[in-house]
Amino acid sequence: MSSRPFGLSRIKQVLPGQRGARGAASPDDTRQLGSLSKAYEESGLGWFWSTDREGRLTYLSEHIVKALADHGGEALGQTFAALFELDRETASSSQRTLPFLLGTHTSFSELHVCLAGRANESWWAVSGLPQHDAEGEFTGYSGHGRDVTETLRRERDASRLAMYDSLTGLANRHRMSRQLDTVLIAYQAAKRSCALMMLDLDRFKAVNDTLGHQAGDELLKQVAQRLRRVIPEGTEIGRLGGDEFQIILPDCDDRGELGELGHKVITMLSQPYSIDGSRCVIGASVGIAIAPYDGLTSEELVRSADLALYAAKGAGRGQYRFYSSDLHSHAEEMRQLEEDMRDALAEGQFRLAYQPIVALDGNKISGFEALLRWNHPERGEISPGVFIPIAEDAGLIGAIGEWALRQACIEAAQWEGEARVAVNVSPIQFANVGLPRIVASALAASQLDPDRLELEITESVFLGEGADTQEMFNALKRLGVRLALDDFGTGYSSLGYLQKAPFDKIKIDQSFVRGATEAGNRNAAIITAIVSLAGALEMETTAEGIEALDTLELMRKLGVSHVQGYVFSKPLDNDAVVERMAKGPLELEPEGPATHRSDRKTLLRMIGLIHEDHRYEVTMRNLSRTGAMVEGLIDVPLGTGFVVDFGEGQLAVATVKRSNGHRMGLEFEVPLISDGADGLCTRHRVSPYVLAAAGMPLAALPPGQYPLVGQEPNKSFSLPRFMQVDPSGENKRVA
Ligand code: C2E
Ligand code: MG
Ligand code: MG
Repeated sequence: MSSRPFGLSRIKQVLPGQRGARGAASPDDTRQLGSLSKAYEESGLGWFWSTDREGRLTYLSEHIVKALADHGGEALGQTFAALFELDRETASSSQRTLPFLLGTHTSFSELHVCLAGRANESWWAVSGLPQHDAEGEFTGYSGHGRDVTETLRRERDASRLAMYDSLTGLANRHRMSRQLDTVLIAYQAAKRSCALMMLDLDRFKAVNDTLGHQAGDELLKQVAQRLRRVIPEGTEIGRLGGDEFQIILPDCDDRGELGELGHKVITMLSQPYSIDGSRCVIGASVGIAIAPYDGLTSEELVRSADLALYAAKGAGRGQYRFYSSDLHSHAEEMRQLEEDMRDALAEGQFRLAYQPIVALDGNKISGFEALLRWNHPERGEISPGVFIPIAEDAGLIGAIGEWALRQACIEAAQWEGEARVAVNVSPIQFANVGLPRIVASALAASQLDPDRLELEITESVFLGEGADTQEMFNALKRLGVRLALDDFGTGYSSLGYLQKAPFDKIKIDQSFVRGATEAGNRNAAIITAIVSLAGALEMETTAEGIEALDTLELMRKLGVSHVQGYVFSKPLDNDAVVERMAKGPLELEPEGPATHRSDRKTLLRMIGLIHEDHRYEVTMRNLSRTGAMVEGLIDVPLGTGFVVDFGEGQLAVATVKRSNGHRMGLEFEVPLISDGADGLCTRHRVSPYVLAAAGMPLAALPPGQYPLVGQEPNKSFSLPRFMQVDPSGENKRVA
């Protein structure tokens, strides 16, 4: 289309500042306007357009025709509405389409449009005025437009900065919280579900501290890339700050699928990273909450997912965890413990227990491992497995660890003989450059021979193999103390560091010892490999957690040099150690079960069994993915169907497969799934929407068991079919 002379009356009406001046113009005015409009067009600042009553373009300034052609747009014979489309990002969601707008024959101004089918290339702001003939009939549009590409692009970049994390390109906290709000409000109306995954990297801080911030940044970028690869496309992933990530998963309430995804994410993120030529390993913990089950609003859902994440980290990291209402009380308990721990040192609530380490050559005590014990004034003895991680998170491990070190040196210096004392050192203590000075001071104060002190260090100190790590090893070795590698095999697969690190001993973790005697178990082969590796590097080996005589025999056969475990002795009080050492010969006689038995968990829990519209309370004795053994109903026929109510909306359809007196074996129609921790849970739960439809207020699922849909509490409509007995098993009739 070529540019044709522009109707003067139209120009007058559409030139900026000339709007509405329809009608007569003096010949002078007209001449002036003609040259003005020409100048305006030629300046490239803007262009004019007009259409006939059907919307077909009757005029378009030359330079926009060219510009459109450059973008592949052919203006000739087109309608205005076919050539352009509204820019979706600026158009409000209520805004109608361009054809609709033009069909109304009303004026518009500064509408952002782009070339149809070519969004995000160029943008123009267009204005238009409807034209009418003498009779007032609509004859078409006239208008002007100008290029706003640069301005929009700049604005968009700025808002992108405000919405996205510049390091990883993922959505930022601001955008995530807006998205979650939007999704949850819309989904509640549509009765849809949405899962939220919170993710926190384990030991990221240590990498940042040892390899530097730049390496930390690079690591975060790689984490984001891996996340994009595992998370289904179209899912919003965000980095909330630091090493915290969040994922919004719409229409997802299958805990089986979510658990698999959580596991996949953790596995992917736990593979080694290569950063500037150094290798490092981190882990990840994941907390999962699902709307509307675990929260309706974004605030509730985020809090639930946070609690689940907190629990996952508390349970030893590298795990996923679903939200459940009992996490509230657990989190409160941990917070209370942390508070109590702040006073525990000053109040003298810690002491050390010592477990003998026995050399298999002669069953002689070679030393003792010092193990922290916390005697809590109200709760009694608390396991270090529980309180050490809290102390690490709360920044208390430095002080507590230093106390343990000094105390162990003082007590060991008073034992008769040359037995060594081994002290556990947290990776956080190890990262403190002041550690060698503290060790030297503990040795000087107690006058303990440095060769009698052994520091137990876990593999996690190698996660960011920096120069600092090596320097720390050297500094400690210069003091003359011995170093042991604790919990070997549980953390990282790289054996490379063993050659560089000056260890005197490798401690083989209990998890390898357990089950080593069982047929077909590969642990014995792994232990053999560790023993030969240690031999080549001239290191001793200690197998931990030996309880049974057959395991002890196996360790001897596999060539392990030392063992530690209940088969020789549980951890002892210092008084008992002093007494034992004064008695002379250091031999210990092994004692324990002949064979190792794997732990069988018995759990006793009250659950509900629903049959017809009657609900029974029974005791669950054990639970597996496929079934449960329950007690409390007498002589239930085989094949009877029940709905098992585990509480919190978890229902499972089950059939009686075995029945004997008051005991029966149930098989679930759909297997249970892992809850990420030790437990099991159902894939699906009763939806709060269903409960709401039955008259309950719409809320996240409350804790405990509650009446089924439409059923009043404790109200049965039929007679109970089965006789209920006291679930404690005393066969006392209660119903
Ligand atoms: P660890 O260093 O691997 O200590 C061995 C753990 O195994 C001790 O648990 C010990 O009581 C237990 N154990 C020993 N023999 C047997 C056995 O035959 N069977 C079984 N089932 N267990 C056995 P404890 O005392 O609960 O300590 C747990 C962990 O807490 C320790 O694992 C260590 O990592 C940490 N810990 C203890 N004291 C300290 C400390 O002073 N500082 C630091 N940083 N960590 C400590
Ligand atoms: Mg240890
Ligand atoms: Mg250990």
